[in-house]
Formats: sequence, structure tokens, C-alpha cells
Amino acid sequence: MTTPLTVEERLEKLLAMMRKNNPQADLDLVRLAFDYAEKAHRGQLRKSGDPYIVHPLATAQRLADMNMETNIIVAALLHDVPEDAGIPMAEIEKHFGKDVASMVAGVTKLGKLKYRGVERYIENLRKMFVAMAEDARVILIKFADRIHNLQTLSALQPKKQYRIALETLEIFAPIANRLGMHEIKGLLEDYSFKYVYPKEYKRVKMMVQERVKIQEEYFTRIAEETKQALADASITPLSIDWRRKHLYSLYRKMLRKDNDIDKVYDLVAMRIVVNTMSDCYAVLGVLHKLWKPLKGRIKDYIAQPKPNGYQSLHTTVFCDAGQIVEFQIRTQAMHDEAEYGIAAHWHYDEHGSKIPEKQLRWIKELAKVQQEMMKRVHDIEFLKIDYFKNRIFVFTPKGDVIDLPEDATPVDFAYAIHTDLGNSCVGATVNDHMVSLDTPLKNGDVVEIVNDKNRKGPSADWLKFVKTTHARSQIRSHTRSTIKDWLKSVIPH
Ligand code: MN
Repeated sequence: MTTPLTVEERLEKLLAMMRKNNPQADLDLVRLAFDYAEKAHRGQLRKSGDPYIVHPLATAQRLADMNMETNIIVAALLHDVPEDAGIPMAEIEKHFGKDVASMVAGVTKLGKLKYRGVERYIENLRKMFVAMAEDARVILIKFADRIHNLQTLSALQPKKQYRIALETLEIFAPIANRLGMHEIKGLLEDYSFKYVYPKEYKRVKMMVQERVKIQEEYFTRIAEETKQALADASITPLSIDWRRKHLYSLYRKMLRKDNDIDKVYDLVAMRIVVNTMSDCYAVLGVLHKLWKPLKGRIKDYIAQPKPNGYQSLHTTVFCDAGQIVEFQIRTQAMHDEAEYGIAAHWHYDEHGSKIPEKQLRWIKELAKVQQEMMKRVHDIEFLKIDYFKNRIFVFTPKGDVIDLPEDATPVDFAYAIHTDLGNSCVGATVNDHMVSLDTPLKNGDVVEIVNDKNRKGPSADWLKFVKTTHARSQIRSHTRSTIKDWLKSVIPH
């Protein structure tokens, strides 16, 4: 075993990674956040016996490895400060600004998801989607937080271990998968696998270790040969390495292949990352000159990306000694997208008055994920609870999320934002199209209310179609008081 890093060493490692990824990164701010969090958590220990600060540091490190921007790292360092050190959010905002504070608030709001009864569970799911819709970065921090908690799970009671691991497999991993964060999904699954299916985990792990040990030398040699051939063709790759399939996904694949590991061809794949798209095709040519490709196994996902946007060239070749090896060739941008999905190009700084393109795409994706999760909830027979499945998320033009019941209308939306907006609304646009006020809204819709300050108040007709109790009671109370006023004016005292 290697000696664990000291807190100082961990901090230095974080700063070094950030410096490497972005020489302009504001490292002073990161140091400040570290000092602040370290002080706030001082005296607290993790169950593992480590000083608490090790956890936020590990969370931040994961995100730095993913090349995330400075504010995300800062928020990751501070993510447990309000909840576990009792420091008010206003303090965080004072020291680190609104953007960081709102991320920390988002993570805190998600809280510690607990699998305590179905209703709480579903409510937690709902909270998670609202938080995600509000700011995609919140879920990234949550994933990084969860990965470190899983890494240190052995310090917890077996019952807790199982609960956290199962929740990760059932909720977190499918969300990461749906959002195209494949690296994160793989980590979440592999760390949970061990606790949810201990026997199967042991079996698969042993099987893989044997094989990979034999193959290690072989693949190192193939990588060397490839590098040489590329150099001869004047191509300098950014990286050539090989990756073993994640254990849990291997286990799932083996279940479909009669438990026969020999039927899994992509147990290990070579991955070549290059500078440009034309380099990708050039590399393919070099490989095919060097080794004979298998028929029907050349896939051009660059010209024809997978439905989830995945891009790469794949080919499977007969390498030395007749071994069959799969190669994946891609640019850095394609690689980042494949590993980190939507997170790879999340630019928070594009927030303007209108929802930027990426935010819209995020919302659409999220709506799909939500539907999928609802199906899952059905599958695990949570049918009785119509609490979550009948909710939709719609958005203001600025991207704020409003959580409403299914078939809610623009009037419900207006009242959910503000009573005055409800009382003065005269029309609405949904996704930039004018609609009538009784139009049922759909998940992911962007709704803008047209209001007229001179409007005398809500129409009693709205009661026929509004879905929320809030809108209903506002309309009732307003029409009632209007009638009272009218009565007052016609009936002399
Ligand atoms: Mn945490």
C-alpha cells in the first residue's frame, strides 16, 4: 500500500492540475476557498478517521481532473461547509460571490439523499431534477462528491454501504449515463458494484485481473508499435493508451453473453487521441496498412455520430500473433464529449437574458432523463406514488425552473412565479410561439408570460382549467374581493 497523501500534498496536487489545465486559473481564489473550508471543518473527522477537509479536496480534485472551471472547483471545496459546519450561505456569498454561493446552495439543497421510505425517496428524486435544471454544475459536484463517498464507503456500517451503493446504481449512474458522462457513470457503477453484488464483483474482478495481466505486456507493445508507425507518417498523437472496460458494464455484458468473457471483444480497447479530424482518418489508414482490419467492424461515427452525439472512428484489427484488438480514434473534443458528455461543454458564462443554446439542450436532455427515471420508478413498482410522475419542469426565459403538475397551464405558471404576474397575465408564449392561456404545458417548455398592468385581475373562467391549488385559490380570492368591491359600490351602506 502507498502512504496516503497529506492534506498539504492533496492541495498542491489540486493546484498543479488546475495550473496544467488552465494557466489563467485563479489559484489564489482556490487557496482561499481551501483555507476557508479547512478552518470551517477543523476538528471534524470522516468515518475513515481522515480530517474532514480530505473529502472536499478529493471532490474538487475529481472536477479539476475533468478540467472544470475555477468556480466549480471553489464550490466543490465549500460544498459541505453550510451543512456540516453550520456557516450561513450569506457568508459564503460575501466571500466567494453569488455564482459560487448558488452552486453550494444547490448541492446543500440536494442534501444527503436518504433511502428512507418510498415517498421521501421520490421526493428526493424530484429535488435532484429541480437542482439539476437550475444549474447543471450542481449535479457535477454531486457526482464527484458521491464518487469520493463511495471510495471511502468501507468505513461505514454494512447496511449503510448497501443503501448508498444501491441508490448509486439505481439513480445516479443512469442519470450520468443518460447525460453522456460515461467516465463518471463507470466510476459510480464500479465503486457500487462491490457492495451491491459482492460475490459477482469478486468473480468478475478475478477473471479480468488474470486476463489483463496477460494482456498488459501485449498492449504496451502494440501501443509502442502504433506510435512508431504514426511517427513514420508524421502524425503526433496527443495520447495513445488502452483502457479496460469498466467492471460493472463488463458484468452486465457477460450476463448477455452466457457469462463467457471470451465473447466480449472490447474488454480492452486501444484509444488514440489526435489533434484534428483529418488526423483521425490518417491514423485509420496507418493502422489498416499495419494490420488487417476485420470485415464489418470499421465504424465511422465521425461522419455519422451515434444518436447520443458520440463521435470516433472504430476499427477492429488482427494485431500481432493474431490477437483481435479494437482501436478508437478521436480528437480531444470528441474524447471530452465521450467521457464527460454534456459537462464537457458546459459554459455557464453564457447566461444572458435569453436561454443560451446549450442551456436549452441541457433542459431537453434533462426532460428525457426525467421521463426515463419515471419509467424506472414504475418498473421498481412504485406505482402507487403519483407524486413524482405527474410533475413537469418548465422554464422562464432566464432559465429558472418552475416545478408544476402535469397539464398545468400558463396561468398556473404565472401564479407560480408571482401573484401579480398571475393577476395581470393576458397571454403567453411557449417556446417562442403564442399560445392560449389554457394550453397544457410540457416538460422542458420555455414559457414567457405577456402581462398587462392595466388588467383588472384574473378571470373566473380560468378556474375551469388551472391545475394548481395555488392558482385556484389566488383566482378565487381575487374574484371574491372584486365582487365584494363591486357590491360595496352598488349597495349603499
Ligand atoms: Mn460531501
